[in-house]
Parts: sequence; structure tokens; C-alpha cells
Amino acid sequence: MFNKILIANRGEIALRVIRAAREMGIGSVAVHSTADSDAMHVRMADESVCIGPPASPQSYLSIPAIIAACEITGAEAIHPGYGFLSENANFVQIVEDHGLTFIGPTAEHIRVMGDKITAKDTMKDLGVPCVPGSAGGVPTLEDAQRIGAEIGYPVIIKATAGGGGKGMKVAQTAADMESAFMTARAEGKSNFGNDEVYIEKYLTTPRHIEIQVFGDGKGKAVHLGERDCSLQRRHQKVFEEAPGPSISPEERARIGKVCADAVARINYIGAGTIEFLYENGEFYFIEMNTRLQVEHPVTEAIFGVDLVREQIRVAEGLPMSFGQDDLEINGHAIEVRINAERLPNFSPCPGRITQYHAPGGLGVRMDSALYDGYSIPPYYDSLIGKLIVHGRDRPEALARLNRALGELIVDGVDTTVPLFHALLQEADVHSGEYNIHWLEHWLETNLQPE
Ligand code: ADP
Repeated sequence: MFNKILIANRGEIALRVIRAAREMGIGSVAVHSTADSDAMHVRMADESVCIGPPASPQSYLSIPAIIAACEITGAEAIHPGYGFLSENANFVQIVEDHGLTFIGPTAEHIRVMGDKITAKDTMKDLGVPCVPGSAGGVPTLEDAQRIGAEIGYPVIIKATAGGGGKGMKVAQTAADMESAFMTARAEGKSNFGNDEVYIEKYLTTPRHIEIQVFGDGKGKAVHLGERDCSLQRRHQKVFEEAPGPSISPEERARIGKVCADAVARINYIGAGTIEFLYENGEFYFIEMNTRLQVEHPVTEAIFGVDLVREQIRVAEGLPMSFGQDDLEINGHAIEVRINAERLPNFSPCPGRITQYHAPGGLGVRMDSALYDGYSIPPYYDSLIGKLIVHGRDRPEALARLNRALGELIVDGVDTTVPLFHALLQEADVHSGEYNIHWLEHWLETNLQPE
């Protein structure tokens, strides 16, 4: 059993991990930049270490500073949360070279899945269905034009190192190919230091369905059903739910088994998410995330499990505390991402919180690091909270979301809360009939950028 773990992250996800550790009787170490000295994760952890100035490359992304913080405090393991160093294979290698444990998958699994081309090849070999596209990287514009013609337009050009919606460009017709190809390459180069791109058929009406998997690293793995994250803005999720309103129990069992078998075969350890586009009853793999997802609480709500606790257990070499047959879906859960952003442009809106009141009551979970008087620094992600509701069925969860949003008070900064109030007025949101483009269209007609 670990005595102490360090959380290499900030904000709500750092609190999430501290809470799980505390329930397990494990001590917690927070790390923070000078901009976060007053942050909630620093207050809540058992110990804290300042690791550098506000800019993330010198603090939350500084591997030497984080390793030093472990050595100073005697932390034996590191939980990376999501973002920052969570999918950095080099970091995992260094952690292990220092005799510490990384709470997450191996460096090798992160490396394979972090490159979207090798990820796709690996998944294809493991029997996971993929989006039709180029066989590997596409080096030149001439290749891209030939492949575009073969697959048929529209196509999407993706940076193999891409993430967070960056490095993807759609070519509707052959005439768009040159600029889409050049832009995807340039974005890959400038954001991820890698200009390799590949091409996929662009699906026009898919839903985003992702399967939560969990492995023990010894050839055993389970799936925890799907999350539907189809309401997206600029390829970024804003509203997530489980189970998916369009997925039948038979489809869930079938694709869930394909995913659990795939990760079992590679001895995957810990939490992972296999993302698919889902169109006309078919699943198409797009990528695998080798970490805890922002939206993991909806899965926790319907299965009644603590995924962070489970991550810590398997990192310690303990068996998983549940098998596939123990996992049964109970009700419906929805998460909305509350960002400090000003509508209609979604421009970041850092500042001081003059009043904060979290909603409560049956079936309501608010994961947030806010408090009265807290100043949101301008240096990091704009996510300031996640409101998760759980009900016996989808209509009950939606009614609960409406009620909980009404109780939430975040004064002092603008947030995305008005967007969710507006979405809850929409018949399509209530019927669950939308695809990944629905929100973009809705925003164009309902929230004109200034
Ligand atoms: P990232 O790593 O940047 O999150 P993903 O490959 O996961 O990129 O894709 C993010 C989103 O982009 C998907 O949820 C979907 O909305 C859109 N997308 C990706 N691939 C395709 C495709 N082949 N056709 C249509 N939309 C796509």
C-alpha cells in the first residue's frame, strides 16, 4: 500500500485524486505554481510543494521539479490527472527510472496510443473497427490528393500527434485539399512538434461514443459501457452522458467486449477510453486516451464505482475490485462542463469569484476547486467546475440538471452556465437526437459571435 502519492495537476481533478487517496488512507502531496499558492488543491492536500512560476512549462510540465517534489516529500507514486503530463511517455519513463510509480498505463502503451497512426494500426490488428482512411502517414500533397479521390470527399486531415481538437482540417471537396493539408501539417508542427498527417473519411452525421475500459496490467480487463459526448464545440466536449441515448444493451455488450478484449490482449493497466464515431449502427475507432477522462464521473455515477481508487489499486499491483459481471448500469448521468468563459465568443474570463454556491441534494455532484474570494488565474484551462447529475432515467437526470443549475451561484466571472440553461429548452436535447455537428449549428443560429 502506498503511504503517500503526489498529484501532478491542479484544479478539480487534483481534488478528485486527493479525495480518493484520503478515503484509502493514503497521504497526498499537491504541487503548485506561484500563481496557485491559494488554490483549493493546495489547501486540501496533506502537504504541498511550490514547483515554479505561473507558466506551465516551468511548473506543471516541469519533470525535474515534479520528481524533486517527490524526493523532498517521500511520495512513492504520481497521479497525473488529465492534461499536463498525463499522456507523456517520456515522463512515465523518468518516473520509473527514479524508482517511483506512475498511476496510469506504461510508457509503451502511452507511446503507441499517443501517435494516432500507430494507435489506429494497433486497434485494427486487435479487431477494433476503424474509420476508412489512408494506410499510415501521408507525406505529400500529391499523395493526399490521390487518397482523397480514392476515399471520396469529404475527408478529414489529422495530425498524428494531434489532440484537444487541434491539427484537424476538413476538405469538403478536392479544391479544399491543398489548404486543409497544409494547415493540418502546420498546426501539427507548431502545437505538437510533428507535422505528420493522415487522412480519414469525414463522417457527416456521427455521434461521439466512447467506451471506458479498465485493465489490471496482467491480461484482465473490463468495459464500463459508453459515454455519449456528441454535444461539442470546436471538437471539444461540453455535455456528456452515460449511458448513450442511442445505444442498445446488445450494441453496448458487443462493442464493450471488443474493447475490453483488445486492451486485455495488450496487458493494458488502469483506466483508458476508446473513442468512436457512431453512424448508422456502426462504430468507427478514432483514438484511445490513456488516462482518466474529464467526463469519467458519469460512468462512476451509473456503475457506482470509484475509478481513481481503482487506478491507485492496480498501480499498487492489487487486483481490480470488480469483474465484468459485477458491473451493472443504474440509471442515467449527465455532466456539463462549467468554464470561465464569456458568451457568445467563449473567450476566457479569469477573475475573482465574489460568491460561490454549489448545488446539492439527491443525485448531484459538483466537482470544482472554486471557493468564495478565489481568483481564477489567467494561465490555465478555463474549466472551473463539472456539474454531474444522476437520475433513475434520462428525463429525471435532465430535470435534476435544470434544478441544480438553478441553485449554482458563480459570481464575479462569466461562465458557460447560460449555455446549459438554453440547451435545456431544446426539444432535441430532451429527445437525445443530435450528432457531433448539432451544437455548432445551434450556436450559429442562437448565439451569434459578436
Ligand atoms: P482530438 O485528439 O483532437 O480530440 P479526435 O480524433 O478525438 O481528436 O477527434 C475529436 C473530434 O473530432 C471527434 O469527437 C469528432 O467530433 C471530430 N472528428 C474526428 N474524426 C472525424 C471523422 N473522421 N469524421 C468526422 N468527425 C471527426
